[in-house]
Amino acid sequence: MKAFQLVTHGAPGKFEFRDIADPKPAANEVVIRVRACGLNRLDLWAEEAGLPVTMELPRTLGGEISGEVIALGEKVKEWHKGDRVAVQSNVFCGTCEFCVCGEESICLNGKLLGVHRDGGFAEQVVVPAHLLVCLPENVSFENSAALTLAGSTAMHMLTKRTQVEMGDWVLVIGGASGVGSAAIQIAKQLGAYVISTGSSDAKRDFAKQLGADCVIDSNDSDWPGEVRKITEKRGVDIVVEHVGGEVLMKCFECLARNGTVVTCGATAGRNVQINLWPFFVKQHSLVGSYGRNQADIVNTLDWLSEGRIKAPLHQVFPLDQAAEAFKLLRNRAVLGKLVVTP
Ligand SMILES: [Zn+2]
Repeated sequence: MKAFQLVTHGAPGKFEFRDIADPKPAANEVVIRVRACGLNRLDLWAEEAGLPVTMELPRTLGGEISGEVIALGEKVKEWHKGDRVAVQSNVFCGTCEFCVCGEESICLNGKLLGVHRDGGFAEQVVVPAHLLVCLPENVSFENSAALTLAGSTAMHMLTKRTQVEMGDWVLVIGGASGVGSAAIQIAKQLGAYVISTGSSDAKRDFAKQLGADCVIDSNDSDWPGEVRKITEKRGVDIVVEHVGGEVLMKCFECLARNGTVVTCGATAGRNVQINLWPFFVKQHSLVGSYGRNQADIVNTLDWLSEGRIKAPLHQVFPLDQAAEAFKLLRNRAVLGKLVVTP
């Protein structure tokens, strides 16, 4: 089969579009014919060796996979050839104390698809069968691959790690990003007023199209002041944050009393300083959020199927042009999501 593999780390890294052996399923695994795979910031980190994990090369990246089951290990009974599926990118064990409670995102033995083992930028991928989620009939492979990782991350943040209530003010950092574009739509569906940041007119317009009530320019150094102005000095109830560094610190300036910053990423820096005086005086919370549970993927696909959210698809690339997709994402020129179709 054809695979688009990272052979040398770098920014950009060196990729090769090559022929490798078809994967064979172990007893509890299935082979998926990949029909679409979304590109995420995680893939760039993997490309740059920017993840705090050991990674063997060559490696097929890509964790946001949809496709059809084409082969099954002998112990797999619940899936059949031809089933249309999406795949959880956190390779959870299914047996640890968190997995048995449905908290797969914090599995004690979790591995990342496309980092610790080969992912979806290939014609086929082999995965443990318990990672699969059934794709609703009216959801296309491309739309699934534009939401099952980033969109379900936002679902986990806004429905599990925090709970948006009707009438809440929610600030979404980077509304044109994969997580941001889903978070705007999910928060609106939950009845929130949404403010989003964006670094260009195109990104701010895109956030408005997705439903943001107000947009602000993240290049303006006093963007927290804009948030306070919009909310008449009150501040927002929840900030959806995935950038880290100085951006995360500034989020607290936007926060109402009893407000929560929920964060799932740290592109701009993993070490931050927090002034604890306003933090406890205003009863602020900082909540970490990692990946998603199986239930979050099911919810995200259900909402997509019901038309409550849309797949924010920017562009689809054939597998042999996947390097172009990596370049576009690195250049921060994407509105929503890039998807590769083998
Ligand atoms: Zn586990």
